[in-house]
Amino acid sequence: MPRPLHATIRGGALRHNLGVARRHAAGAEIWAVVKANGYGHGLERTVRALGEADGFAMLDFQEAARLRSAGVRKPILLLEGIFQPADVPALCELDLTPVIHSAEQLAMLGAARLDRPLDVYLKINTGMNRLGLPVGDVRAAWNTLAAHPGVRSVTLMTHFADADGREGVAEQLACFERAAQGLQAARCVANSAALLRYPEARGDWVRPGIMLYGCSPFPDQDAVVLGLQPAMTLSSEIIGVQRLRRGDRVGYGFTYAAKSDTTLGVVACGYGDGYPRHAPTGTPVLVAGQRATTVGRVSMDLLCVDLTAVPAARVGTPVTLWGDGLSADEVAAHAGTVSYQLLCGLAPRVPVVEAP
Ligand SMILES: *Cc1c(COP(=O)(O)O)cnc(C)c1O
Repeated sequence: MPRPLHATIRGGALRHNLGVARRHAAGAEIWAVVKANGYGHGLERTVRALGEADGFAMLDFQEAARLRSAGVRKPILLLEGIFQPADVPALCELDLTPVIHSAEQLAMLGAARLDRPLDVYLKINTGMNRLGLPVGDVRAAWNTLAAHPGVRSVTLMTHFADADGREGVAEQLACFERAAQGLQAARCVANSAALLRYPEARGDWVRPGIMLYGCSPFPDQDAVVLGLQPAMTLSSEIIGVQRLRRGDRVGYGFTYAAKSDTTLGVVACGYGDGYPRHAPTGTPVLVAGQRATTVGRVSMDLLCVDLTAVPAARVGTPVTLWGDGLSADEVAAHAGTVSYQLLCGLAPRVPVVEAP
């Protein structure tokens, strides 16, 4: 028998969430962000389910090539653009849309002859100080690109640092609008958080990622309230039961001691599968659909749960680590991280089951 741990990916949930994004997009076109192997859901599988998107955004030339081989004809946006001059021919060959975010990239593109006209994104640093040209350099860069015979169109983009947080987007959006003023170009600014919360940050294209997978970008608003459905459910079973007496301890480091006589379920799932090792005692899990909590340290292949709330549980009882009925957002919050990391950290050893 195979180990009972597996991830179920629901194509219907991906499609549903794309519909939610579509409603918020108010006519803007949608780049479905499928970087990091479709946030851990599998690149080809995700793109197939999100076939109604207007394009796909990712990082990697090889992944883009895989999509082209799989017959994907829609635009593909490379969020980090090119890394070396030799990448330019591949852009043309695969018909990719690069983000140009630095003077170095601009020079590489400028020095190249393009065999095929390219659409290009010009990324502006509006305050996040990660990727993007300084506001003062935008006009010159735009002129350079507009004058390049191989460049078909230039879209202006930026990325928000705190669309999911207290600051929101106002300051960066104002900065973007100043930088873009007078330039006849399409615009692309919104990630999931901006798409869901800031209708003023729309433009011509939007770039939702996490919401498509059914998780919330916001620490203070959960996915159900946003109308999203989890696309990934990580499921396993109890494979061992221990009867603890008060004071008995559990797991590596003996970090947990039973406060009373307790039945303990041992679940086939650990950090080697992508479950967060830092999830402390008290992290929620579903056992036979009922909420229970982890106890002790998560180990590589196993974790332990207190079965007090589920007295009927035994070996073979199903366990949900996250997904249907228990959001990855909630599990992530207990572990001091975000659902993004849980989803894209799903280990390759975990078998994936596709569901409608
Ligand atoms: C990852 C990414 C997105 C998507 O962000 P979500 O928070 O997952 O919606 C959008 N734009 C850029 C530039 C990104 O790197």
